[in-house]
Amino acid sequence: MSNLKISIQKSGRLSEKSIQLLNECGIKISNGDRKLKASAKNFPIEILFLRDDDIPQYVEQGVADIGIIGENEVWEKDKNVSVIEKLGFASCKLSLAIPRDESYNGITYFEGKKIATSYPKILKKYFDKKNINIEIEEISGSVEIATGIGLADAIFDIVSTGSTLVMNGLKEVEVVEQSEAVLIANKSLSKEKQEILEKLLFRIQAVRMSLEYKYILLNVPNSSLEKVTSILPGMKSPTILPLGIEGWSSIHSVIKEDDFWNVIEQLKNNNAEGILVLPIEKMIF
Ligand code: ATP
Ligand code: MG
Repeated sequence: MSNLKISIQKSGRLSEKSIQLLNECGIKISNGDRKLKASAKNFPIEILFLRDDDIPQYVEQGVADIGIIGENEVWEKDKNVSVIEKLGFASCKLSLAIPRDESYNGITYFEGKKIATSYPKILKKYFDKKNINIEIEEISGSVEIATGIGLADAIFDIVSTGSTLVMNGLKEVEVVEQSEAVLIANKSLSKEKQEILEKLLFRIQAVRMSLEYKYILLNVPNSSLEKVTSILPGMKSPTILPLGIEGWSSIHSVIKEDDFWNVIEQLKNNNAEGILVLPIEKMIF
């Protein structure tokens, strides 16, 4: 049986989370000794550690079958690959920023301006669509210092918290894209590799789901059962068990992390007591 080859970032912001995701999928690997390649003992997969910038190209060419990479690089490299699944980490924005003291009156501000970036393709597409002429200064790193040293009037770069911008006397004025890590795949995988990919995807989805949900247990007086079960729909329906005390029940269910505080409030308002919330390790519908 041939192995599925996955490429992940060798060292950088995606590396640790990519390895962690594979681990959570039951795929045990280590790259302690900084090899280029590793294989997993218990899953037909081979891991290639590469520079993230090169991953779209390798996946297009079939040197790797799949890869984990930021959407921003997928857009910028514009290779012929399929985006299979969003992975929920390395979330960031691609934003335009200008010197803090400049007054900003909308996107036409950029007409005739010089913008420094490592993402020239995405930037050009954005301004072409808006029919605004700009000059692009392509640089490969430390974009945030470009205005300070007189290289450009503005920058287009990755922003997460914005603290780097502030430190460099800049302010974010437009968010052009929202990006996160994604799984990409070669467009002509063999049937065999496609099957391995589907197995991996099934596991990734179970892991992702488990992170989105919490397991919840609580006690309610039977008079509130109907109301509380309507607040907690569960996977099929909540589990309801009688308590040792007459007239009370224990309810077990799952809730979405995002709804958590909202749901807890509603439960308390409906006489729920002894609420326990636990993490879920894997979740399969
Ligand atoms: P190099 O190729 O030189 O290692 P890089 O910028 O390509 O540098 P990283 O800084 O490790 O590599 O970023 C990898 C990916 O992580 C980016 O393409 C982006 O998708 C995401 N990312 C970058 N910066 C942030 C951030 N501050 N917060 C969240 N995600 C980020
Ligand atoms: Mg890179």
